[in-house]
Amino acid sequence: MVSADGFYRIVARFRTNSYKMALARALLAVEERERVPLVDLAEHVVASYYRHAVLYRLQESTNPRAVPVAVQVVQWATKQVVGDGDPPRRPPARLLRLAAREITEPQDSPADQSFFRYVLGAWSGDTRYPRNGGNDYFAFSRDEGWLEYSPEFASLIESQGETLKATVALSWASFLEKFNDSPKLVSKVSLNRPTRRIRKFADLFRDFPEVFEPDACWLCGAPLDWNDCSLDHLVPFTFQYGDDLWNLVPTHGACNSSKNDRIAPPAVIERTIRRNAVIWDTPAEALGRWSRDVAPSRDRFVDYLPEAVEKAQRAGFRVWQPA
Ligand SMILES: [Zn+2]
Repeated sequence: MVSADGFYRIVARFRTNSYKMALARALLAVEERERVPLVDLAEHVVASYYRHAVLYRLQESTNPRAVPVAVQVVQWATKQVVGDGDPPRRPPARLLRLAAREITEPQDSPADQSFFRYVLGAWSGDTRYPRNGGNDYFAFSRDEGWLEYSPEFASLIESQGETLKATVALSWASFLEKFNDSPKLVSKVSLNRPTRRIRKFADLFRDFPEVFEPDACWLCGAPLDWNDCSLDHLVPFTFQYGDDLWNLVPTHGACNSSKNDRIAPPAVIERTIRRNAVIWDTPAEALGRWSRDVAPSRDRFVDYLPEAVEKAQRAGFRVWQPA
């Protein structure tokens, strides 16, 4: 029977990787809910794994040495298209197409099995890797490369699509939190961008120059003009997924871009920990309206930075080396 409950049970019954959740999200993302080419669904799967595994460096399997084939393909395609440079926030169309083709019908990539081989049958508990078949939710043919929504599933999506999407995001986040210590997993997985506060903090930095020392760039040390001042996240935004005062320092726009989503060098981290301790010791009256932006405990405001650096490194973020 097709129902929101049944859908939840299928999606949440994961074992070692996130394939069923990736397929579920793709099924909900496709606009035309009739017969769709598998390769179109694959583009949505690739987009999910690009965000999770490439941008956020999340592990998608309970075993760190067994990277799921679909993730390997996305990493391979990223290397083909982007090279060793920093991955852009949005995956280029060419990358999506290349990886989608490879996870549908492997040809050039290191993968020797398709994403769909296991997951289409597994949806209904069939572990025999059928090439063609179906269940209450969809019929599929890997031979001909399509999937067709059942009318019941199409109308369930029509009426409860948003609930189903939230179901997938929560299941996926709770799966990932077992073996990732990346912050804000629910926001990352449910595609919610955090509220940005950079502009607001720029005023704070200007109001308290004796604490924030915005007259020189914290990354390169050269004089910094206020008009060229940008606030850099020492622990990359793509890891921390928020604008936290304890994580921000004034830098040149160019230094900030060049560092991109790498971690600040140890000396800058040390200096910032000292600065954060000064802010923490500043009486709330002196900080005025800004006192609300200081975290509620010393633990969370001063001691958290080195901890966050360690976690980001463990996740695979590299330390920036100035040119
Ligand atoms: Zn600089």
